[in-house]
Amino acid sequence: KHEERLQKVIAQSGLTSRRKAEQLISDGKVKVNNKTVTEMGVKVTSDDKVEVDGVPIEKEAFVYYLLYKPRGVISSVKDDKDRKVVTDYLPGVSERVFPIGRLDYDTSGILLLTNDGEFANQLMHPSKEVNKVYVAKVKGIPHRKELSKFRKGVLSDGERLKADHAHILSSDKKKNTSIIALTLHEGKNRQVRRMFEAIDLPVIKLKREQYGVLTLHGLNAGEYRALTPKEVNQLR
Ligand code: URA
Repeated sequence: KHEERLQKVIAQSGLTSRRKAEQLISDGKVKVNNKTVTEMGVKVTSDDKVEVDGVPIEKEAFVYYLLYKPRGVISSVKDDKDRKVVTDYLPGVSERVFPIGRLDYDTSGILLLTNDGEFANQLMHPSKEVNKVYVAKVKGIPHRKELSKFRKGVLSDGERLKADHAHILSSDKKKNTSIIALTLHEGKNRQVRRMFEAIDLPVIKLKREQYGVLTLHGLNAGEYRALTPKEVNQLR
């Protein structure tokens, strides 16, 4: 059974924020299996009975969304500096969704959001091998040989970063830029940008166009849609 921290389970029920859930716990208002719990960090599963002020929490239904994240938006649910965050683009969604992984502030493209923690953890695990296709505009025109280094992996800060495929879609000799598609199944921090830096081709623009079976088809930047049950199962 999937274990989650008590305060997270309370927050995910839609009752309150994670912070306020912690307050409820330390105030002695939360019971697990009829026993009051006041310490933080207790883990529970769906088999445990959780009550707040004597009322059992109701489990929120799981929801799954695909957002076409625009550039200039943070992949989190809130920001200290009041910049735009991805949940600002899901105004009709009342569930406490969070992004599955992240795209950089300046990267656009497919971002999944859900309130299903287990589903999110599974997808983010590299062994899951969900293919992600990125399209990058870079400064410079690489030789095919340089791009072929990506298959073995390039070193960046002591980490080996790999792509399964990389190919040039087009280049502009006058502007000295190229458009390159690459397929990854890892998702290390700033991976695509770091891979291109490693071969001296700075990324000018980056977009994630595919995530497993999912594409951006039918969406404009800033728009979202629910995943179909079939799509959710295809990713699982
Ligand atoms: N790789 C990056 O460098 N940035 C992203 O946002 C996603 C993948």
